[in-house]
Amino acid sequence: MTHMELNKRQMEILEIVKANVPITGEQISERLGLARATIRPDLAILTMAGYLDARPRVGYFYSGKKPAQSIEESMIGMKVRDFQSMPVVVTEQISVYDAICHIFLEDVGTLFVVDNDSFLTGVLSRKDLLRTSLGGNDLNKMPVHVIMTRMPNITYCKKQDTLIDVAKKMIDKQIDALPVIDKYAEGLKVVGRITKTNITAAFLSLGDEHEL
Ligand code: ADP
Repeated sequence: MTHMELNKRQMEILEIVKANVPITGEQISERLGLARATIRPDLAILTMAGYLDARPRVGYFYSGKKPAQSIEESMIGMKVRDFQSMPVVVTEQISVYDAICHIFLEDVGTLFVVDNDSFLTGVLSRKDLLRTSLGGNDLNKMPVHVIMTRMPNITYCKKQDTLIDVAKKMIDKQIDALPVIDKYAEGLKVVGRITKTNITAAFLSLGDEHEL
């Protein structure tokens, strides 16, 4: 069933049913201060479109189907917490060689670096590691903290941020990934990772939702 835009009264009816399941048409009309006949077409539409289930002599139930949103609303509603991936974290002392192994083993493009108390201290990208390996260094001896981008120059986000905010930061700073963090007085704890791949997945989900 395709999504349709509901009008204000239909949205109100949905909210009333959600909060008072089951509820009769008569009771809904009383709550709205309208005649039963006035809301009859709305109830028919909501039932036919699958938002409400009507059971004879019992009343209306909410089916769980979410009302359609505009693309704008859907985009604003896309939050980091719904699209983030697991972070891949290494400690500052590991070697550049081991960091490269992590990139392959964990199949990620960016590693986050933490200190011994698990607070964020740095970021390592593919090119950071590639550049170092071209430099004729002993990769087994060189710790990653020498080459990483470090705090306070790290761009991060929080679970409740919108994906639009994150995408803007990625483009502005020309980076591929951001750590998702929880802030503490002592520093930042890494709880997730958001990459251009996550943004692409979100872009696709928008297409599904709106049947593009
Ligand atoms: P690559 O270097 O592989 O193209 P990026 O574009 O993500 O990958 O990284 C570019 C530079 O920005 C690198 O030096 C990297 O350390 C740094 N960087 C990557 N992510 C961040 C971030 N979230 N905050 C600050 N700097 C970052």
